[in-house]
Amino acid sequence: MDNLEKYPQLVPVFQDIENIIGKDSYDMWLRPAHFEYNATALVICLPNQFWGNTIRERYETIIRDAFLKHLGTQITVEYKIEAPEETPTITSAQDVFSATAVTEQPAVVKINPFASRLNSSYTFENFIESPSNRFAYKAAEAVAHKLGARENNPLVIYSSPGLGKTHLLHAIGNQILKDNPSAKVLYMSGEEFVSEYIEALQSKTPESFRKKYRSLDCFLMDDIQFVSGKEACTIEFFNTFNALFESKKQIVLSSDRTPQQLEWDERLSSRLLSGITTEIKRPNLETRIAILRQKRDSINFDIGDDVLAFIAEGIHTNVRELEGSLFRLVAYCGMHSVTPSIAIAKELLADILIYNNTSSVNINTIKKIVGKHFNIKMEDFNSKRKTQSVAWPRQIAMFLTTDLTDLSLPEIGREFNRDHSTVVHARDTVKEKIEKDPFFAAEINQIILDIKAVDNK
Ligand code: ADP
Ligand code: MG
Repeated sequence: MDNLEKYPQLVPVFQDIENIIGKDSYDMWLRPAHFEYNATALVICLPNQFWGNTIRERYETIIRDAFLKHLGTQITVEYKIEAPEETPTITSAQDVFSATAVTEQPAVVKINPFASRLNSSYTFENFIESPSNRFAYKAAEAVAHKLGARENNPLVIYSSPGLGKTHLLHAIGNQILKDNPSAKVLYMSGEEFVSEYIEALQSKTPESFRKKYRSLDCFLMDDIQFVSGKEACTIEFFNTFNALFESKKQIVLSSDRTPQQLEWDERLSSRLLSGITTEIKRPNLETRIAILRQKRDSINFDIGDDVLAFIAEGIHTNVRELEGSLFRLVAYCGMHSVTPSIAIAKELLADILIYNNTSSVNINTIKKIVGKHFNIKMEDFNSKRKTQSVAWPRQIAMFLTTDLTDLSLPEIGREFNRDHSTVVHARDTVKEKIEKDPFFAAEINQIILDIKAVDNK
């Protein structure tokens, strides 16, 4: 931070923050900022709102945690926009850092770390609804409007990382507080639950720990997979869950595994599944573009739809990466005063785009490469032959098609002249072998690289 010498007691705190977020990010976002500190509040002074949003979204939790860890205090973080610019429109990338402030109204944005621990920037309004998340979105809205209704309790949302679970949990909490500011809502991650519980045990205060949870109207617990496998915590979670459930309090859980995969006690599992369980799937291309557009508009940065589409085409699996890429491009173009273009995006995001570049994988390439690897002919993939020397490569090809393309299971079935249940069986068999056999996993990895090498040419 710019004027750190004024607060020598904070040097180790910011040193720690720099270690956690990395020097580059620290240099870019935090080092230039000027700040004030008074034991309970940290006021970060910045030239514009965009900057404040970035710190808030990416680093605020880390900052608060570091203060708690080093100084033992829960601080609030406030953002003060120091010098709003007068230019009303943004014409090029170079203006973004100065001009965004103009479009936002308040000069001081106050963010209180509610006891609820909610992040007010995650709302239903700024969550893009799409076929891949529609059911989860609707269920979340229903929960927010009708707390504790038997049919919606608990709500369990699961998905692979970066697809919006945390966003929806906060959106539920923010909506509840908007409708009823005195509602007791608590957001917590599984990790935090575990560490608080261990702390409560060590300081011999498990009762106050229990009381806190059991007085809630809505408990939003993110990433419950962290509680799995730690027996004492699982039991405590189970008790908390039951107490809330029985007093008809709303529970919303998220997990990066299916409830079945959490391998919990049967009673807990059956309770977990007794409300609504819903998965968020990967967003399709239109949704990915819509998300990028919304982000662009929210930071008011001049970046063309063609560039957004290019990024969206390259990143399939993770909305967080999608946003991160946009941020990276915006930061780069802002600093170097250039207008974003596909060429710049390609250069700057090469590592991410190539890594995720699965859209161009063609099913015939998969068959060709797998066929070559196992020495079988193209037509064997669709034939009725069941000998192991053909059936096994065919199963591998089916698995790879589920993994590397956006085709649905029935579509894949048709491509192999089979029905979708055969595809499911093949996928699961191969997956299982990959998990159990590292040599086989390496072999499959090599095949994937070969496939991508052909399709990326
Ligand atoms: P998860 O908890 O599933 O890992 P997050 O909720 O943290 O994912 O989402 C990652 C990022 O992507 C967040 O910044 C979130 O706001 C954004 N995001 C995910 N899905 C959407 C969506 N449908 N619309 C808008 N933003 C989204
Ligand atoms: Mg999350």
